[in-house]
Amino acid sequence: MPLRPAAWSAAIIEHLEWESFESLCGAFFSVLGIRTEISRPGADDGVSMRLFEDGAAPKRCTAIVHCRVSKMTLDEKAVHALHGVMAAEGVPEGILMAPKRFTHEAHSFAAAHRITLIDGQHLVGLIEHLPPTQQQALLQFVGPGHWRTPVCPLCGKEMQPQVSQRGPRWACTDYPKCSGKLPMGEAPPVGAPPGAIPPANRPGAAQQETR
Ligand SMILES: [Zn+2]
Repeated sequence: MPLRPAAWSAAIIEHLEWESFESLCGAFFSVLGIRTEISRPGADDGVSMRLFEDGAAPKRCTAIVHCRVSKMTLDEKAVHALHGVMAAEGVPEGILMAPKRFTHEAHSFAAAHRITLIDGQHLVGLIEHLPPTQQQALLQFVGPGHWRTPVCPLCGKEMQPQVSQRGPRWACTDYPKCSGKLPMGEAPPVGAPPGAIPPANRPGAAQQETR
């Protein structure tokens, strides 16, 4: 039975550390059944991926994906860089992924050059449309720790089960210094003290989730 310690939410992406965001971007295409090759051109350039979606020509790269982790809105320079690689390799499509938003200039250049921009919120929206098993599979990429005992999305310390007025949830072990929290699914975490999580908790019961 799949463990369901947390559901997808915008907050997960907000606080994702950069390595996890890159892993998640790669895993996203794998989960869709698209063959990908990943390379890391340089520290500043983030991760570059090549997608192979042409069944008739499996060795032909059909799209280049750049994953740029930036704390700020990404401007058109990143889109120009991706377009340069596409042009040099003769690849018709590009995808630029970044956790934050893109500038208007980035959007207009991308629209004119067959480049799709995917920011963090957009990525969560795409993931939320996947079948539940694929959503669960992708959850394991969102933290350096494993989700049975998740790490705090704000500070990286381990979390512990806590029962709040709205039901059980994960809270940072550094509370009250850190206010990190995560929703919790139906299954008790491995190693949790017996009885830490009431059996009344059911899938999707946490907070304002609708199902
Ligand atoms: Zn914390």
